[in-house]
Amino acid sequence: VSSIYAAPGDKGSVAQYRSRYGHYIGGEFVEPIKGEYFEDITPVTGKPFCEVGRGTAEDINRAVETAWKAFASWRHTSPAERGVILNKIADRIEQNLEMIAVAETWENGKPVRETLAADIPLAVDHFRYFAGVLRAQEGGISQIDENTVAYHFNEPLGVVGQIIPWNFPILMATWKLAPALAAGNCVVLKPAEQTPASILLLFDLIGDLLPPGVVNIVNGFGIEAGAPLASHKRIRKIAFTGETTTGRLIMQYASQNLIPVTLELGGKSPNIFFEDVAAAQDSYYEKAKEGFAMFALNQGEVCTCPSRALIQRSIYDSFLADGLDRVSRIKQGNPLDPETMIGAQASNDQLEKILSYIQIGKEEGAKVLTGGERVDLGGDLTDGYYVAPTVFEGQNSMRIFQEEIFGPVLSVTSFDGYDDAITTANDTLYGLGAGLWSRSADICYRAGRAIEAGRVWTNTYHQYPAHAAFGGYKQSGIGRENHLQMLAHYQQTKNLLVSYAEGPM
Ligand code: NAD
Repeated sequence: VSSIYAAPGDKGSVAQYRSRYGHYIGGEFVEPIKGEYFEDITPVTGKPFCEVGRGTAEDINRAVETAWKAFASWRHTSPAERGVILNKIADRIEQNLEMIAVAETWENGKPVRETLAADIPLAVDHFRYFAGVLRAQEGGISQIDENTVAYHFNEPLGVVGQIIPWNFPILMATWKLAPALAAGNCVVLKPAEQTPASILLLFDLIGDLLPPGVVNIVNGFGIEAGAPLASHKRIRKIAFTGETTTGRLIMQYASQNLIPVTLELGGKSPNIFFEDVAAAQDSYYEKAKEGFAMFALNQGEVCTCPSRALIQRSIYDSFLADGLDRVSRIKQGNPLDPETMIGAQASNDQLEKILSYIQIGKEEGAKVLTGGERVDLGGDLTDGYYVAPTVFEGQNSMRIFQEEIFGPVLSVTSFDGYDDAITTANDTLYGLGAGLWSRSADICYRAGRAIEAGRVWTNTYHQYPAHAAFGGYKQSGIGRENHLQMLAHYQQTKNLLVSYAEGPM
């Protein structure tokens, strides 16, 4: 695989994986207790590149016990001390940004221009945000009567479990780890079985900055390692990102131990273009066309992928034609090439799922406007998992408008006026993200409030700053990530109710 960046494993690559990783427990890599490993495959070429320990309930037990031992002292660290550590983690990641970006591209298939410019810098910023904001958190005091005071303290939960997906391996790990550590917890994290190695490579790099056992990573599959973690009697919370169907199971496991759950789940986000978008062929119009093409970002493997475009009927034909022109300029290719805008789907399963949805779309009568097939990039990349950006035209009742495809597949339909736009946008089980495009502040405000989604981007899309709360309405999840309010999801309130009166009571 030749490019500016050599493939990990090849001579001259800035990123080198170990050939085999165990679990990361107690500050070191350890063999899985049952001694089994599974292959990690790069979607760039469809070939295995390393082996990773296949975790079971025994490994989860070991990690949870180790984390509790570490919690005995970690819980007593001051906010300032934890802030210093999180900042050091951010600095170390930043110093090795290129190396980590190439490693993550190799494991996930996303373009290196994204990992260099977005995934890894956002991870750095996320650690820095929580390093700072944790010191801005305050408790509270209620004056009960003249001599009685209720103090409210924020205390960590203890050992928390975290389970993440494969679409943004390092960033999803960071979204979970930074607030949990800032809040004073210890962690057992299970990465997705498709993308554990980039997180393990990261801990090879930053592990020494944390006391042993504060973060532990057990690899493996959902049923074998994820379920024992989410149902473990000694964890105090489970945070999960993944599919809505898996989210339901996680809640069931957690209900056995009555622990809190935060869930970041699927989406079918509407991207709404009102007619005044096309009032002038200016730079705003260019931005709106770019917003239309955003469905292909990260190969569409984003929970907030704007996978439904709703275009007002009066501009439908012209805006769609311009939008398709913008899509035709998305450059697909070797993910390690910095010119590439769309790379490989993360796994063969995901590739097959997307292709089956493209078939479903065709069978239910949607019209393929562009794409609609697998792409063979030839040479070493011929077995990689590449899908052409695909645009369908159809109706919101179709399965391709209602079910999450998690690929570079856009379903487009029209609407007649404001009410129709909102009704169509909200006609979904999901409520994670939405996009709004209009030059009218009035439409933007009213529509922004009327759409049932946790994040409504207005005249922009796919921005993920650490200080904006992110999470789902409806079946897209419970709780929020990012933002100061995230700390509360990893804490419990201790109330000391104290009388300073001499007596009698
Ligand atoms: P998934 O639910 O199959 O897997 C996610 C994680 O859960 C993996 O680590 C997996 O091993 C684990 N898992 C699977 N079954 C489990 C079980 N029974 N018990 C415990 N753990 C189990 O999801 P995926 O296919 O890896 O990820 C794609 C999904 O993630 C999409 O639906 C996407 O929308 C969602 N997602 C949501 C957000 C968000 O913030 N809302 C972000 C990224 C991805």
